[in-house]
Amino acid sequence: APSNILLNVNGIEVIYNHVILVLKGVSLQVPQGAIVAILGGNGAGKTTTLRAISNLLQGERGAVTKGSIELRGERIENLSPADLVHRGVVQVMEGRHCFAHLTIEENLLTGAYTRKSKAEIAANLEKVYTYFPRLKTRRGSQAAYTSGGEQQMCAIGRALMANPSMVLLDEPSMGLAPQIVEEVFNIVQDLNQKEKVTFLLAEQNTHMALRYAHYGYIMESGRIVMDGAAADLASNEDVKEFYLGVG
Ligand code: ATP
Repeated sequence: APSNILLNVNGIEVIYNHVILVLKGVSLQVPQGAIVAILGGNGAGKTTTLRAISNLLQGERGAVTKGSIELRGERIENLSPADLVHRGVVQVMEGRHCFAHLTIEENLLTGAYTRKSKAEIAANLEKVYTYFPRLKTRRGSQAAYTSGGEQQMCAIGRALMANPSMVLLDEPSMGLAPQIVEEVFNIVQDLNQKEKVTFLLAEQNTHMALRYAHYGYIMESGRIVMDGAAADLASNEDVKEFYLGVG
C-alpha cells in the first residue's frame, strides 16, 4: 500500500455467533488526513466494519475470521480497543453514548483516561471548546438534559480528548435535525482541515456524507459494491437513483 495509507482493511470477513456471515470480504483504505465515508442502507454492514477495525466485536459475539487490518502498515486485529486508543484510533459509537448523569465537561474528561499530563488535558479541553462552543456553554449541564445534537458533539469531543489521529464515527447524523447534522459535519470538516484528524465515518445519509467526505465506499449485504471520489459518486447515475433519491 502507498505510504500515505493510514488504515488498510484487506478482505475481512466477520461472523457473528459463530454462524452468521455478515462481512463477506470487505477491503477499504483510508489515506492519512482524509475524510472517508462508508455508505449504505440499514444492515449493510457499516457498523460491523467499524467495530471490526476498533476491535469492538467481541462484546457482540462477533469475530474477524479472514483478512487483515493494518494501521500504518502494522497488523492491528489482535489489539484491544484500549491499545488502539493508545495508537490514536478512537471510535464514536452510534447512538452517542454520553454518560447521562455526568455533566458535559465530566463526559469530555472521561475521554482523556489514557493521558497523564494535567496541563495537556486542560489544553485539550480548551481546544475541544473552541471547536464546539455549544459544549462550552453547556459544560456544567448533565448530559441527560442536553439536546441530541449536543450529545453527539459531546461524544465526538470526548473522542478528541484522547488526542487521536483517526476517529471512527458511526452514523453521526442519526436522529438529528438537518440543520444540526450540518453543524456537526462542519465541525468534522474543520477538525480535519485544521487539526489534521483523519475520519472514517459510517452514514445512511448519503447526500450529507458525500458533501463532506473526500472518498466513499458503498456497502450492500456485507460487500463493497462501489467506491470512488465523493464528487464522482455524487454525480453517478446509479448512486443518484438508489442512494440519493433522485431519478
Ligand atoms: P445500521 O445503520 O442499521 O447500523 P449497518 O450497515 O451498520 O446498519 P450492521 O449493524 O453492521 O449494519 O449489521 C450488518 C448485519 O449484521 C445485519 O444483518 C445485522 O442484523 C447483523 N448483526 C449486527 N450485529 C449483530 C449481532 N450482534 N449478532 C448477530 N447479527 C448481527
